[in-house]
Amino acid sequence: MSYVTVLWSMTAAAAVVAAMLQGVVWALDRESRANLALAIVALSVAAIVPTELGMMYSSTAQEWGEWVRWCHVPIYFAIVGTVAFVRIYMGTGRHWLAWTIVAVRTVILVRNLAVEPNFNFDSISTLDHIRFLGEEVAVVGNAVVSPWQWLATAAGILFLVFVLDASITLWRRNGPDDRRKALTMGLSLLLFVVASLVHTQLLIWGLVHVPVMIALPFIIPLGAMSFELSRDILRAPKLARALGESERRLELAASAAGLGLWVWDLDHSRVWSTERARALSGLSKDAAADPQRWFERVHPEDAERVRHAIDQAISLGGEYSMEYRICLPDKRTHWVSAQGRSGSDSGGRRLMRGVIRDITPQMQARDESEELRRELAHAGRVSMLGQLASALAHELSQPLGAILRNVEAAEMMLGSESPDLEELRAIVADVHSADRRACDVIERLRALLGRRRLDLQPVALESLVHEVAALVRPDAIAKRVTLQCDVVSGLPRVRGDRVHLSQVLINLILNGVDAVLSTNLASRKVIIAARANGRHTIEVAVTDSGPGIPAEHVDRVFDPFFTTKPGGMGMGLAVSRTIIEAHGGRLWAENNAEGGATFRFTVPVDGDSRR
Ligand code: ADP
Repeated sequence: MSYVTVLWSMTAAAAVVAAMLQGVVWALDRESRANLALAIVALSVAAIVPTELGMMYSSTAQEWGEWVRWCHVPIYFAIVGTVAFVRIYMGTGRHWLAWTIVAVRTVILVRNLAVEPNFNFDSISTLDHIRFLGEEVAVVGNAVVSPWQWLATAAGILFLVFVLDASITLWRRNGPDDRRKALTMGLSLLLFVVASLVHTQLLIWGLVHVPVMIALPFIIPLGAMSFELSRDILRAPKLARALGESERRLELAASAAGLGLWVWDLDHSRVWSTERARALSGLSKDAAADPQRWFERVHPEDAERVRHAIDQAISLGGEYSMEYRICLPDKRTHWVSAQGRSGSDSGGRRLMRGVIRDITPQMQARDESEELRRELAHAGRVSMLGQLASALAHELSQPLGAILRNVEAAEMMLGSESPDLEELRAIVADVHSADRRACDVIERLRALLGRRRLDLQPVALESLVHEVAALVRPDAIAKRVTLQCDVVSGLPRVRGDRVHLSQVLINLILNGVDAVLSTNLASRKVIIAARANGRHTIEVAVTDSGPGIPAEHVDRVFDPFFTTKPGGMGMGLAVSRTIIEAHGGRLWAENNAEGGATFRFTVPVDGDSRR
């Protein structure tokens, strides 16, 4: 019986079976490129078999040389396939080494096809016949080795280094299964490379008289590689079950936390979502697969904002996070908070993954606390104006008195026989201007007494400071306090609510006035200053020449109900701080080195007014 035919046929059959199996796996899942690489390697090994048999059964040196030449073609694909497999499956192996091996093998293949008789020999003159496994087979006899042979040796050594390096890296990574893979694949490949390298070198240089044998030993690494991949295939159902279980656990945890999860496949325009996500958007399972249906649910007033944020996240590959309203089919509306991140999965599909959460209760609570804040601010303003009442009454009594005196004078003049019309005209003008002054005071009071929500508009701080100073000045004058405005002119406008900002300023100025009352008459001074603080904020400071804030009170002055004044409420600074924070600014206090305290707050510059 011919062992040669049996052994080589078995090798070819095993390789073909392996190639078919791996090929089918790849055909079913085109993303499993490792299976494709292995199928190519197996097919190439099967193709080496007839060329090796051809050499053994050659009757002339020329025929032998011809088979060697054809043998190079499947060898090329077997090596390139193995390099690809190592890169894909082991995930290690240096890129540059891989490409160098491919380049060198390509040069060898091209030269092999271009020269006679083949790459390895310049000439082959005779064949020897030896007994091998009970059969007489042909081996190379007298031949001249090609001076290019060193390139094939170099390619073999490079391949050896590549495999060694890839295995060591994988071993060091020490993840689950890494060490086993490094051992089985690394060792089997190394064994094969060393054996076939030594064997072919000895054979080509005529040092041993044996047939060319590459396919047979290749079965060892091929088996190891197939074993590793089959392990993965066999583990797949178990993994799928574990994945399903962890998905259910994740979904349970997510829905317990009130989170709906969704993944939008941008390439195929389909959405996967959890039940919670669908319920939040009022979509059925079928409808939820269509991304368009999600957009249709967004409240028309928020739709453009949502689209824009998502488009940006997709085109720039980033994240978005926003709050918007959803209109349910039963006409109810609720608020959701949504976060999404664009990216891709391991197969390169573009995805947007995200979570969605119902925040309607928080939004309601926010509205309620906003309402409370408004009430508090309003109460604060009323009480503040109460403090100013006597000074304002005085302020009003002046123009009203002037009007009365002018009207009396006019009556007297009208009682005379020939009233002086010029004089009467002047009197009416006086009445008019006194009336304007009274109206201004009333107008300012009315604006401050209104109960209104925060309405952020561009505000010119310079005029605001002067208006507030006008309102507080009568009180300051009555208490012999000098009020000084020190606002840098040409400041950009801030983004704020006029009335609320006035309230903060009045509060700080009145506190300053109260503070300086304990000092002697000559040094009673409150300065209101405003200046730019960087490009994006304006800083306003109210400085007084009072005794300053005692060290033990510094941390407490902003606490609600903290007061050191006999009739004080202790709400002024607390309310002022919430107002400033609602503007996106900061309010704080510090004692001055030269005595007295300074209260500072910042407000953001209006985006359109930035210069
Ligand atoms: P109220 O004026 O009703 O006391 P505020 O919240 O406006 O309430 O002020 C709280 C406390 O902070 C004051 O009672 C006072 O002790 C302290 N305070 C406020 N402004 C100054 C200031 N300019 N100098 C020193 N202490 C101040």
